[in-house]
Formats: sequence, structure tokens, C-alpha cells
Amino acid sequence: MIKIIKTVAQMREIIKEWRREGQTIGLVPTMGYLHEGHASLIDASKRDNGRTVVSDFVNPIQFGPTEDLESYPRDMDRDSALAEEHGADVIFAPQAEEMYRPGFSSFVDMTVLTQELCGLSRPTHFRGVCTVVSKLFNIVTPDRAYFGKKDAQQLAVIKHMVSDLNMDIEIIGCPIVRESDGLAKSSRNTYLNGEERQAALALSKAVGLGSDMVSKGETSCKKIIEAMKELIEAEPLARIDYVKIVDEADMQQIETIDRPALCAMAVYIGKTRLIDNFFTSDVKGAQK
Ligand code: AMP
Repeated sequence: MIKIIKTVAQMREIIKEWRREGQTIGLVPTMGYLHEGHASLIDASKRDNGRTVVSDFVNPIQFGPTEDLESYPRDMDRDSALAEEHGADVIFAPQAEEMYRPGFSSFVDMTVLTQELCGLSRPTHFRGVCTVVSKLFNIVTPDRAYFGKKDAQQLAVIKHMVSDLNMDIEIIGCPIVRESDGLAKSSRNTYLNGEERQAALALSKAVGLGSDMVSKGETSCKKIIEAMKELIEAEPLARIDYVKIVDEADMQQIETIDRPALCAMAVYIGKTRLIDNFFTSDVKGAQK
């Protein structure tokens, strides 16, 4: 059985031992309820590193007051089975009280990259993400850490943080893993009832449409966004939070795709907020 580590002290002991053995260490930060998207990150880490730590922690400080912290799905038995199957070495699953001791008051806050896209509807989210990821980096001291392109803004923010704060960790972005019908895998998909699950295909269909337009040479962001929004709005259960195209480097909106760009969206399906995206640099035939 894979070891589940609950305390920072125990995690540090294991890391020390691995370092004595000369192992390289990969970290896969997650909030648990693991699926094939998380598994792809574990696989990538296994390829590059001698040892792989999966952190499994629903981080309270990255949720807003009206968000789904309480209802976020949790299943440690399932998580440990999947992590073990994919060859992870340990799961680091501390309680919130272990990560945030009484009096906790130091945060990592980023002033750029976090003011657009999800940062607008989730104003304290990235501060929570940067803080917990910094803590995980300090505890696990990985050589490499693996993040999904599914959370494209998060990936950009983490890369920027590592550069700003001189963290000696390689950040590796991994492709979005999808269900067979296109829906991006997400722990939050479990919130969807049958009808909503069908409606949620509006996101991946819009990604398909947008990337198709880009691959055919369309460079007007307005036209691409309008077409994508029209497709999503045709779905009665969908309510758009945003569909935007931003410069991949600074997450600022652009009008023309004349540089590597990210087309990202957040859409409510019923009460569930889902995200999806594509990078123009991943689209065949797109202007580079
Ligand atoms: P989460 O547990 O949702 O916070 O996600 C943990 C990590 O898994 C993040 O780096 C996500 O971007 C990544 N991830 C989540 N879903 C997917 C997916 N469908 N494909 C690839 N990576 C994913």
C-alpha cells in the first residue's frame, strides 16, 4: 500500500532519506479526488524523477467565501489506489490544521497575471494557490513540479512565481486529459447530473470551434470569441463567466492573434463552474 503522510515533519524525513540516496524528486500538487488528468501528471513525474510525491490537499485559502470548499469531493481510498497504480511513491495529505497553524499570517501574493480571467471572479484564489504551492515546495523541495494546462492561468502564475522568487524548481505543464466525448476531466464534473453532463460539452465544443478557426488562419479575437460564445449560449443550462483571449506571457487581453495566446473560458453549468482552454501554440497551422 502506498504511504499516506500526514505531517510536515514525516514528509521532511522521507525527503531527507531520498536525498541521501541521491534520488531526484517530482511533485504533483492536487486537491485529490484523482482522475486520469492527475494520473497523467504522475506518469510525467515518474518518467523524469526517481521519486514522486502526490500532494492531496483541499486548500481552504484558495476558495472564496461562497465557493465549494465544504462540498468539494474527497475520497482518500480511491486516491491512494490511483496514485499507487501509477507508481507514485507517497501521498502527502496533511489536515488543514497542519498546513495552517494558529497565527498563520504569511501569504504569497502576485500583482501581475492574477488580475485577469479567473482572478476577476475569484479575487483571492491565486493568493491561496501561490501560498500553498510555496509551502509544498518548501516541504517537498522537488526538482520538478507538474501542473496541468487545464488550469492554464495557474500554470502561468506558478511559473512566474518560481522565477520571481528564485525557486530552483522546474515547472512542467502537461496537456489537458479529456473524457472520450471531449469534456475536460475535472474533480468537479462529479457535481453534474445527467442533463448537466451533456450540457457541459458546450465548453469542449467551443474549444474545438475556436481552435479550428485559429488553425484555419483566423486572427481576430473578437470573431473567435463571438463564435465560441454563440455556441455556448445555445445551451440553456450554460451561463458564461468569461470567454477571453489573452497574451500567453502576461495574461492581458489582445485583439489579434499575432503572438502566442491563450483562449480560456469559465462557464457555469447549473451551479457548477467549469473551465477549459486552448493555447494557440498547441494548434496546428496557427500563426506562431
Ligand atoms: P486539482 O486537483 O483540480 O487542483 O488539479 C491538480 C492538478 O491537476 C492541476 O495542475 C491541474 O491543472 C491538473 N489537472 C486537473 N484536471 C486535469 C486534466 N483534465 N488534464 C490535465 N491536468 C489536469
